[in-house]
Amino acid sequence: MQIDILTLFPEMCEAFLGESIIGRARKADKVKINCHNIRDYTKDKHNRVDDAPYGGGMGMVMSVQPIYDCVKAVSDKCETKPHVVYLSPKGKTFNQKKAIELSKISNLILLCGHYEGVDERVLERVVDEEISIGDFVLTGGEIAAVAVADAVCRMLPGVLSDDICFSEESHFDGLLEYPQYTRPAVWEGKEVPEVLLSGHHANIVKWRREQSILTTLKKRPEMLETAPLTEKEKAALKKLLDNKCKST
Ligand code: SAM
Repeated sequence: MQIDILTLFPEMCEAFLGESIIGRARKADKVKINCHNIRDYTKDKHNRVDDAPYGGGMGMVMSVQPIYDCVKAVSDKCETKPHVVYLSPKGKTFNQKKAIELSKISNLILLCGHYEGVDERVLERVVDEEISIGDFVLTGGEIAAVAVADAVCRMLPGVLSDDICFSEESHFDGLLEYPQYTRPAVWEGKEVPEVLLSGHHANIVKWRREQSILTTLKKRPEMLETAPLTEKEKAALKKLLDNKCKST
């Protein structure tokens, strides 16, 4: 997979995506990530990439020309037609399902806005999809692009040491992950659950599944409405909730 990030601040994205698991994946050629400076494509004699909004108002708007030329130059070098995502607070909220979906695409372009965002005609001409990372406004799309790139790369074969690393993580199968512990077994009188020290693999698997459901119930109960639970798990959950209702 190849991800091309189009931004006015390529160093910001490079700094983050050059480190840790994603940095190693890039070095091992598991994924290609290139950061491009949109300003390199401006035809303005003062190197400007933005202008005042028509109709007046605060801030500046990123102009069509440099973005269009940047997308075109990058797309022309791609092996397959790229899927172009504009990071935007107006987009659909990003989630794990979308990360998995995007990880199956060979060429992905992530376009970062800045200032008041991009001229609407950019969206009409080159953008396939708008993605938001939450209902809040960031200064620029860089943090959002890096968040999307990181989540997508984790889904690529060979980026994590084993598929189980992500298949048991929160959100992969509609549940949150079970609680995790590491040494020491007792800290300030607080003990690690005994089952985790037992070495009994089947019991550990069973405990983790139960804890995963209970953690989801406690922290994100609405997720249980669509979580893929077995009939036995659904019945146990119903019993638990009925008992809770009776005791309150
Ligand atoms: N004027 C825009 C609005 O009200 O919708 C906000 C522009 S914001 C200050 C500048 C850029 O940051 C946007 O063009 C977008 O690329 C990025 N951005 C801001 N919030 C975001 C979010 N929640 N998710 C993804 N990108 C975001």
